Amino acid sequence: MNQPERYTITAALPYTNGSIHIGHLAGVYVPADIYARYLRLTGNDVLFVCGSDEHGVPITIKAKSEGVSPQDIVDKYHAIIKASFEDFGITFDNYSRTSAKIHHKTASEFFTTLNDKGEFVEETTEQLFDEEANQFLADRFVIGTCPKCGNEESYGDQCENCGTSHNATDLINPKSAITGNVPTLKQTKHWFLPLDKHEDFLKEWILKGHKKDWKPNVYGQVKSWIDDGLRPRAVTRDLDWGIPVPAEGGEGKVLYVWFDAPIGYISSTKEWAAREGKDWEPYWKDENTKLVHFIGKDNIVFHCIIFPAMLKAEGSYILPENVPANEFLNLEGNKLSTSKNWAVWLTEYLQDFPNQQDVLRYVLTANAPETKDNDFTWKDFQARNNNELVAIFGNFINRVVVLTNKYYNGVVPAPNELSPIDNETLATVKAYPDVIASSIERYRFREAGQELMNLARLGNKYLADEEPWKVIKVDEERTKTIMYVALQIASALATLSEPFLPFTSNKLKGILNLSSSDSTAENGIENTWNEVSTKDVLLPANHQIGKAELLFSKIEDDTIQKQLDKLVASKKANEKANATVEPQKDSITFEDFTKLDIRVGTILEAEKMPKTKKLLKLKVDTGIDVRTIVSGIAESFTAEEVVGKRVTVLVNLAPRALRGVESQGMILMTETPDGKLVFVNPDDSKVSNGLQIS
Ligand SMILES: [Zn+2]
Repeated sequence: MNQPERYTITAALPYTNGSIHIGHLAGVYVPADIYARYLRLTGNDVLFVCGSDEHGVPITIKAKSEGVSPQDIVDKYHAIIKASFEDFGITFDNYSRTSAKIHHKTASEFFTTLNDKGEFVEETTEQLFDEEANQFLADRFVIGTCPKCGNEESYGDQCENCGTSHNATDLINPKSAITGNVPTLKQTKHWFLPLDKHEDFLKEWILKGHKKDWKPNVYGQVKSWIDDGLRPRAVTRDLDWGIPVPAEGGEGKVLYVWFDAPIGYISSTKEWAAREGKDWEPYWKDENTKLVHFIGKDNIVFHCIIFPAMLKAEGSYILPENVPANEFLNLEGNKLSTSKNWAVWLTEYLQDFPNQQDVLRYVLTANAPETKDNDFTWKDFQARNNNELVAIFGNFINRVVVLTNKYYNGVVPAPNELSPIDNETLATVKAYPDVIASSIERYRFREAGQELMNLARLGNKYLADEEPWKVIKVDEERTKTIMYVALQIASALATLSEPFLPFTSNKLKGILNLSSSDSTAENGIENTWNEVSTKDVLLPANHQIGKAELLFSKIEDDTIQKQLDKLVASKKANEKANATVEPQKDSITFEDFTKLDIRVGTILEAEKMPKTKKLLKLKVDTGIDVRTIVSGIAESFTAEEVVGKRVTVLVNLAPRALRGVESQGMILMTETPDGKLVFVNPDDSKVSNGLQIS
C-alpha cells in the first residue's frame, strides 16, 4: 500500500449521559491515542478528532428523571468527559460537541444535500405512540422483545444482547419506557435512508474490498447484516431535543442521533481547521487521506453501514479505510454497567492512583479486548504494575541512571570496543521501531505493548548478564562500554514508549536530558521513532543526564483490597435497589384502620423458646399492662440484645398459642432485602409506653 499523505483518525463520540470508565478507555480511546501518537512520531500529517454526542433519547430521559433540562445534563458531562481525556493524555487535536453551532449547521447541510439529491424516501408510517405521555416512542423510549434473539429488554433501535439494529415497530410486545403503557400506533411522516439501495456498493466495498484487512469480528458482523438484507432506516425522529429537520413538514422533528453523531467528526474537523487556519476538506475528501474510525463493537453497524452509505450518497467524501472495532471489556467477570455502578470511573481512579495514568493505560492495552471480550481484574492490574512496569521497565531505567550517576557523575561514558553481545544487543534495539510499528499498523495494540516491554526486558537482561556493578571492580574500561550500551537502550525506551506510556516517556526524557515535544530541554538531542533504527548513537558520550527518579511504584495488597471492597459495596447497593417492592395491598376504610390498637411499648424480659429456631418469648410493657408476646425474631436478635428495646405493639390482636405459649399481641417489624429484621420504633425517647399510634 502507498504511504498516505495524511490520516484522519476518529474516536467514537462519547454519549454525554455519564462519565467515562475503563471500558471506554480500553475499547476506543487508548488504542486510538496510541495510533495517533505513533503516526505523529513517524512524521505523518495526523488529525485526531472526537467530541461529545449530546443528542438522543437517553439524555432527555435522564434530564426528566433529574428534573433539569437536557442542556444541563450535556453541559455537566461534557466538562467531566473532556477533563478525563485530558487527564489520561488522550491527544485529540480537537474535542468538540454536537450541540455546537458548527455541528448543527454541518449536520443540517448534510441532510439538505441528501434530501435535494433525492437520497431519502419520505414516508408516512404508523409508529408507536404513548397516549398518556402524548409522545411517539422510538429508540430508548420503547422496550420490548428482540425479534432476532428474544432478549426481552431490547431497545427500539438496537438490541444490546445481540447487537442487531432494528426499527421500534419490529419489537415484539413493545412497552413505553416513559409510562410502561402498551403503545398504540399513530401516523407520522419520516425521512428514510434506503439502505437496501446501497447494498451492492456495501457488498463490493466491504465484503470484497476489505475481506483481508478488516478485523474478523468487524467483517463478520457486517457480513451477517448484509446477508440478512438491509432495509430503509428512518433518519428523523418525533422529538424536541436535537437538530431540527431542515425540510418542509419537518416541524417538531429532529435528526436521528445516529444520523447526526458521525457527522460530528466532520464538524469537529471544521472547528479545528478554523482555529488552526487550515483547510478541513483534504482531511475528508482527498483520496490520499486514510480515514480510520476507532469504536466499540456496539457501533459497528453505524460506522460500517449507515455512515458510509451517507458519505457515499453525499458523493464528495472518502470512505473509512478501516474500522478497528474492539469487543467489550468486563470488570471482575461482570459486564461493565453505568447504571449498576459496576465500573472503574476515570475520575475516581485518579483520586485513588494519582499520577498513575500510565499504569492504567498499560494494563488496558495489555488486556485490550481486541479479538474477544476480555476481563479487567484488580489482581491482574497489580501484577502487571509490580511484575512488569516496576520490576522490568522501572528497574532497568533506575539501575542505568543510578549507576551512571554513581560511576560518572551522570556523564555518558565513551565506549571502548564493542563485544559481540554489545553489537547484537544494539542491533536488536534498532529492530524494535519496525517490530512495534508493524503491530500498531495492524491494530494489534496488545502485541505492540508487549513488544515495548520486551525491549525493557532486553535491557534488564543485558545488565543482569554483564553485571557492571561487579565488572567495575576489575575492569573500569569495560564498565564504560556496558553503561554506554545500556544508556542507548534506555534512550530507545524513552522514544518508543511515548504512544503507550506518554507520562513516563516524558519523565524519562527529562531524566535522560533529551528534548521532547512537551519538554523545554534545549540540548538539541531528540530522537524520532525512525531514528531509533537509523541513528548510530542515541545518547552520545559526554552527554549529561539527570538524577534517578522512580518511574513506577509498587502497588500493595491493601490498595487493591480497597478497590475490591468498593465493588462489593456497589454490588450490595445494587441488590438493595433491585429488591422487589411488594405492591400495595387492597384499600381499607378508615374504620378498618381504627380497629387496630397500636401502642408504644418496651421489652422488659426475653428468652429463647426451647427447641425453636426463630421464636423469642418476650415480656412487654405496653403501658396498659405487662404481657407475654411470642415473636419470630430469634434469627436476627439474641434475647440479651432486645431487652430494654422500645417497640411498637399491636395490642388487640386476638391471642394465639405458639408452641404452647399464649402470645398476646404482635411486635411490628420490617425486613431488609438481605433478610435482616429491624424494629419499627418511635425515634423520640420521650414517648412513653402506652401512647397510641394513629
Ligand atoms: Zn437481540
